[in-house]
Amino acid sequence: MTARILVVDDIRTNIKVLEAKLTSEYYEVITAGSGPEALDAAHGQKPDLILLDVMMPGMDGFEVCRRLKADPDTAYIPVIMVTALGDPEDRVQGLSAGADDFLTKPVDDIAMFARVRSLLRVKLMLDELRMRERTSASLGVISPPVPGLDEDYSDASILLVEDNPRDQLRLQRMIEGQFRIEIIADGAEALGRARQKEYDSVVVSLGLQTPDGLRLCSQFRTTEETRNVPILLLVGPDDQKQLVKGLEIGVTDYVVRPIDRNEFIARLRAQVRRKRYQDRLRDHYQQSMEMAVTDPLTSLYNRRYMASHLSTLLSQSASQHGTAVLIMDLDHFKRINDTHGHPVGDEVLREIGNRIVRNIRGIDMACRYGGEEFVVLMPDTDIDSAEVVASRLLHAIGDKPVTVKAAVGELLVTCSIGCTSSSDKDTADTLLRRADKALYEAKSDGRNRIVYRRSDESGA
Ligand code: GH3
Ligand code: MG
Ligand code: MG
Repeated sequence: MTARILVVDDIRTNIKVLEAKLTSEYYEVITAGSGPEALDAAHGQKPDLILLDVMMPGMDGFEVCRRLKADPDTAYIPVIMVTALGDPEDRVQGLSAGADDFLTKPVDDIAMFARVRSLLRVKLMLDELRMRERTSASLGVISPPVPGLDEDYSDASILLVEDNPRDQLRLQRMIEGQFRIEIIADGAEALGRARQKEYDSVVVSLGLQTPDGLRLCSQFRTTEETRNVPILLLVGPDDQKQLVKGLEIGVTDYVVRPIDRNEFIARLRAQVRRKRYQDRLRDHYQQSMEMAVTDPLTSLYNRRYMASHLSTLLSQSASQHGTAVLIMDLDHFKRINDTHGHPVGDEVLREIGNRIVRNIRGIDMACRYGGEEFVVLMPDTDIDSAEVVASRLLHAIGDKPVTVKAAVGELLVTCSIGCTSSSDKDTADTLLRRADKALYEAKSDGRNRIVYRRSDESGA
């Protein structure tokens, strides 16, 4: 996994050392000698990761980090802070500035590369989500905001997997009141629980007996429902080797025992924050996908989506009967608008949409084709079966008045339907055109009726 890394330090030799190490692992390195330079480089060159010195004259690393994380353009770039001292106070300050990880000078190679790789993996996933985000933005959907550094996470649920009773108690006391915590001693039970319920973060003790901590982390990562939950690993000071393995498996962060309460809370907050941001991006993507394929008034599929679906159906030659198509148009609908107003017309359209959906099969697709026109696609359906559905729809719509909120109360609306079924030669276009001709006939024959056209009598 190659990536561009920005190294920030006010001392040139420090930059040189890190640059040499990173380049030898084939990372592309860019550098900055001060806070303001770092901000410029982050904006201009969009690095995939930033190694940021804390102690710099003028603007220090904490301030640089805070600014990066407050700006939607750079907030998603992971930041590793490089500190001179291993002081927990420094780490807590860094975490509340939005830092993703820490390294202590002199920088240990194994630790650095493990952290770099692990953060780049997270970045890759966020990049993917943000890319989809741009697609939805081009469809006119507004992006969800980047979460602030001081959001309230007291409703966040944390699952702690720890089988040592004394540690259970100690950890519980540490984070009580900050998050909602559940404690489970058995790994298999914890995984089962996390498959049922979505946690904001899972904390796993490396010393766990059944299964061992790393195995459990790997099970979390390979299980569909828990693949994206942040995992915080609790390690001892001598567990460096297992920690590196853990980060490779996909552990998101870790805390070294003896655990500093403030650091533990700050790291959990960072996990929850990232999790919620990911979730927002994902939900938002789903929502905008739905918006892109559905009609807002009736919630039926829209015309564009139906047309592409129809092409797909026609290209699947496996079906025995071809695809049947109904085009339905409400009769004299203009009168409803003219007499009762547009909002009443809208209410009627919504109810008609509901009636259509209730009277077709799950594999059939209903779409709003235009103003008061609807299309129903029925895969693997011959024209005789299509007639049955068309007739059912004609009655479902025309036999029972639509109840509207307005004083008029009830309105009787009928429709005309054109019906056809595909042959091998049909494209989406010829099929829809034939159904449309049938509809036109139904209108001119007096409305509130169905006209069928077989493919051989169409001339299309
Ligand atoms: P016909 O039986 O020949 O189909 O007559 P019609 O009045 O239904 O057909 P026409 O095409 O003349 O008018 C369609 C009407 O549908 C006119 C338009 O205002 C109304 N319409 C289209 N879209 C909407 C909508 O989203 N909401 C409402 N309330 N009315 C709509
Ligand atoms: Mg009409
Ligand atoms: Mg019309």
